[in-house]
Amino acid sequence: IMMAPPLQAAIEEAKQTSSAPAKVIYLSPQGPPLTHKKAVELANSPHLILLCGRYEGIDERMLQSSVDEEISIGEFVVYGGELPAMMLMDAVLRLIPSALGDIQSAEQDSCSDDLLDCPHYTKPLEFQGVTVPDVLRSGNHGLIAEWRLKQPLRRTLERRP
Ligand code: SAM
Repeated sequence: IMMAPPLQAAIEEAKQTSSAPAKVIYLSPQGPPLTHKKAVELANSPHLILLCGRYEGIDERMLQSSVDEEISIGEFVVYGGELPAMMLMDAVLRLIPSALGDIQSAEQDSCSDDLLDCPHYTKPLEFQGVTVPDVLRSGNHGLIAEWRLKQPLRRTLERRP
């Protein structure tokens, strides 16, 4: 079990060096699962301190006194909080304006609006007997937009009804 005093000291040190008030997040399988909505909220936070456990976890008193929030990356247990912290960072950082070339691509991604993303295609035109859908090669922007709207609805219904 990780002891409270050294972790407390590390968090205080991190807080002192941060330019804005920092929220302390403990990566834990016992927290609510990370969602797109939570990632958007965290992307708007000025500063985050991520606490990663190991072994059996962390002394409960430390969690009660110094942690603002617990977040899980899924309903399973991994060895330590480092990879969960990296997943959280990856999900949050790409939502910060200017991180992506086009912020609209994040808005169209799966889970951003309760819908899954549409299928994507690139060259070659034919792969293992399957061709890129005709509509995407039609040059008709209205039909393409309609296809891109309907596909997420169909996919979501099939995969996450
Ligand atoms: N005994 C703990 C329990 O059952 O809740 C699990 C300890 S786990 C082996 C060690 C560390 O990995 C945890 O303190 C946490 O930081 C991290 N961890 C494991 N699974 C996680 C998950 N699903 N989400 C976020 N962090 C996780």
